[in-house]
Amino acid sequence: MSGKLISDIRDLSPEEIKSFFIVHKEKPFRGAQVFDWLWKKQGASFDEMTDIPKTCRGLLKSNFTFYKAIPEKTQESRDGTIKIGFRLHDDTMVEGVLIPSGGRFTACVSSQVGCPLGCVFCATGQLGFKRNLSPGEIFDQAACLNSLALKQSISNAGLSNIVYMGMGEPLLNYENVKKSVEMVTSADGMGMSPQRVTISSLGIPKMIRQMADEGLKCQFALSLHSAFNEKRNRLVPFNMKHTVEELKDALKYYYKETGKRFTIEYILFRDVNDSLADASELAVFCRNFPVKVNLLEYNEVEGTGLYRSEPEKLNAFAGFLEKKNMVVNIRISRGKDIDAACGQLAGKNK
Ligand code: SF4
Repeated sequence: MSGKLISDIRDLSPEEIKSFFIVHKEKPFRGAQVFDWLWKKQGASFDEMTDIPKTCRGLLKSNFTFYKAIPEKTQESRDGTIKIGFRLHDDTMVEGVLIPSGGRFTACVSSQVGCPLGCVFCATGQLGFKRNLSPGEIFDQAACLNSLALKQSISNAGLSNIVYMGMGEPLLNYENVKKSVEMVTSADGMGMSPQRVTISSLGIPKMIRQMADEGLKCQFALSLHSAFNEKRNRLVPFNMKHTVEELKDALKYYYKETGKRFTIEYILFRDVNDSLADASELAVFCRNFPVKVNLLEYNEVEGTGLYRSEPEKLNAFAGFLEKKNMVVNIRISRGKDIDAACGQLAGKNK
């Protein structure tokens, strides 16, 4: 590892940083010191690494970049939800959200700038795709939201949960998402329990299988929104490439390999997917594995022609599933007034 190419230092493993120092005839333990600054101490620049000799820092500066996601704009909702716009080194923006609830704090982080999947109900999908986030840029959002949670929390406990449910499709940026999950859950990073970190995806069968094969240590949630192919095609055009049946097979595989229960996320759209026939098809889909179903209130996005289901329909839908002995939670939308709710993140504060 010569480090001749200018790359983001946080893309490197501890072994690679150590090799860099060995190649440059510096003490190998500098690698561990630098790694500690990058992740655990959440340093923001090489200059901050004051226990590293100046010559070593100079070497790092001339061989690597150090791209941080910088929190730039904070908006607070009437319900206490906080949205942060992060400025990236190439002048693009992503958003992360902190959702306080009953003394607990959930962070929702982005994995891509924009999103290529173009789900018709989603503001991010309307932006198109710009690029993948690096592991460090994803980690920075979680770390910043954790600091905010620590300031607000009475018990000084920080984040209770992290969900990869912000801008972008995490499984289309799998390697970087994986590394960020590893650093968020590692004692060398934020040290969160893998039980409290969830990747939420539209479902890419090949990647669900890979995640299972690799035993990635986190939870998984699938955004289904309809168990009927024709309806899912309309809501999630990506479904035309990978049908509900393919997804079901991949999820069966995931359960067989990991033994982990996962979550099915389902947004209810008025008169589109909120009938009892839809609930019945969802129940049939869920018979294949142990799941928990989260029914989400839709956060209306202008120009989509889609609307939130009436509360009675939402309750009837939930009741139908409960009668089938399914575990069902109703998730009422948070942060609507600042466009911080699920599906509303569109970098409007740029
Ligand atoms: S819902 Fe998720 S996958 Fe679909 S366009 Fe929005 S960000 Fe992308």
